[in-house]
Amino acid sequence: MRRGSLHMKLVLIMVLLIVSLMTVVGAFLINSVVGFYLKDFYTQINQAFSAETSLLRDLQTETEGEENGAQHIKSILDAYAGSLGVDGRNRNYYILDMEGNYLAGSDDAGGAALDYKPNLLNTMRTGQPSSQSDVAADYMDAAIPIQRGEESYIIYILDNRETVENLNSELFSLIVEALAFGLVISVLLSFLLSRTVVAPIRRLTAGAERVAAGDFSRKIEVNSQDEIGVLTDTFNGMAGQLQDTIQQVENERNKLDTLFLHMTDGVVAFSRSGAVIHANPAAGEMLCRTIGPDSDYTGLFGDVAPLERVLELEQPNYLQGEREVGGRFLELLLTPFDRESQGGVLVVIHDVTTLRRTEEMRREFVANVSHELRTPLTNIRSYAETLADSAGDMPPKMQADFLKVILNESDRMTHIVQDLLTLSRLDAGQTELKLLPFPFGRAVSDVYNAVLLEAQRHNHALSLELEPGLPEILADRERIIQVMMNVVSNAIKYTPDGGTIVISAGRTGEKVWMQVDDNGIGIPDPADRARIFERFYRVDKARSRESGGTGLGLSIAKELVDRHQGTLELVDRPGPGLSLRMTLPIGGPRHE
Ligand code: ADP
Repeated sequence: MRRGSLHMKLVLIMVLLIVSLMTVVGAFLINSVVGFYLKDFYTQINQAFSAETSLLRDLQTETEGEENGAQHIKSILDAYAGSLGVDGRNRNYYILDMEGNYLAGSDDAGGAALDYKPNLLNTMRTGQPSSQSDVAADYMDAAIPIQRGEESYIIYILDNRETVENLNSELFSLIVEALAFGLVISVLLSFLLSRTVVAPIRRLTAGAERVAAGDFSRKIEVNSQDEIGVLTDTFNGMAGQLQDTIQQVENERNKLDTLFLHMTDGVVAFSRSGAVIHANPAAGEMLCRTIGPDSDYTGLFGDVAPLERVLELEQPNYLQGEREVGGRFLELLLTPFDRESQGGVLVVIHDVTTLRRTEEMRREFVANVSHELRTPLTNIRSYAETLADSAGDMPPKMQADFLKVILNESDRMTHIVQDLLTLSRLDAGQTELKLLPFPFGRAVSDVYNAVLLEAQRHNHALSLELEPGLPEILADRERIIQVMMNVVSNAIKYTPDGGTIVISAGRTGEKVWMQVDDNGIGIPDPADRARIFERFYRVDKARSRESGGTGLGLSIAKELVDRHQGTLELVDRPGPGLSLRMTLPIGGPRHE
């Protein structure tokens, strides 16, 4: 049994209860016994010596020839001994004269050595009966004066209270016995109580300890409907709810962990002191460094804003920063998060490289469009102005030349606008491909035949090499021809007169290909080679414009081939000249 345990307390309470109960009952009992005895003694004496009784009359009546009054009184009192309770042992009577001398009595030895108590002295002094009781004294007494003719006597009755003392000690030992008995019962009872009260509480405690250790597998048995039963039931309910809540929190955490793990944005969380609490793989990848336990805020983002400044912010405010790492543009969002004392700073890293590039390309595109349109417009305007100013003074031949330039320039503008329209339709996905099967080899030889004259004008040696048995392909014939024409025209344009151009076509697996090789000026700079499919990109602007190029041809061609799920790319080969290769799936685009 543990000290301070409920069982111990129960035993202690029971013992205290029994002891205090017995003490109170004992004291009350003993007190009332003494009181009763005292009261009984004085009632008995007063009744015996009251005027109505024969005793007093007998005592006061003198008999004739009486020699010794005291002896006479003695004989009368002996006769009344029963009603006075005089037993000669514990209660005696003494007959005295008014001076207090012992004359006769039931106890001569006691009479000779009589102790003069207040009641006796009182009667001796006043001649009146005296029966003052004294609870504290160890005796009870009463003195009654008797007048017999001339003689005066005092009858003094003294009780040494032994009877009541004996009774009290008897009572006391009874109470002690009852106490001992009560104590034994209380200990037994406390064992019983502990079985009904302490045992379920112990079970509850063991259950609570299990729950505290995270074991929710077992419920605590409810054996009773009393308060402890209700408590156990409530505890089981509470443990169930706790388990649900913990499960929910766990799920949320797992969800968050998975989210962090797989999100493309980088997330790094710091504590108030700047230590890394959490960092997802994307963050390390974007920042091109490992974020470990030894990394801290100052080392990672201290240059964007000091930690204190971010912590001072109020949600939903945040600070923004930018950084270029490994050729990528990163946007940084720094915001505090507050969880009472466990707040910190959260940094979200967003890769805005594509956005930046797109913006840049858009800006460049708008600038290019404006530039490309302004040049022919300026030309048209200046020629038209000159014509208007000359007011017919100009020779007709010159006028015709001027008008020809104006017409050419407006054609060029129309060309550019048409190309732009084609591109914007392709961008908007508005261009419907008219997919029909056609023989690929025939299309290539058609293109060959169409440009043959032009090639001859430039003294180019144009040849066609077709693999035999080229299949039919599913594609938009018009568009594919447009792409082929563009590539072949470029080869003719960018090859100085007298060059060699080879158009070849074949099949590889489920794809067909067409390649155009020339030995012209080529594109020696790798930076230019990477950009020729960009809109308005031209390696040599002046040359391209001279030959009527807009710089949009290849970008349109590439878009069209992409829509067919084919490829259009430069062949990586040493110069001179350039090789462009187009491949197309024979079965056409799969999800058109
Ligand atoms: P353009 O209308 O200027 O020809 P393209 O989009 O068709 O525009 O071509 C883009 C640029 O690629 C051209 O301006 C030219 O500089 C380069 N280019 C294309 N084909 C060839 C080639 N066969 N040889 C050399 N350079 C070429």
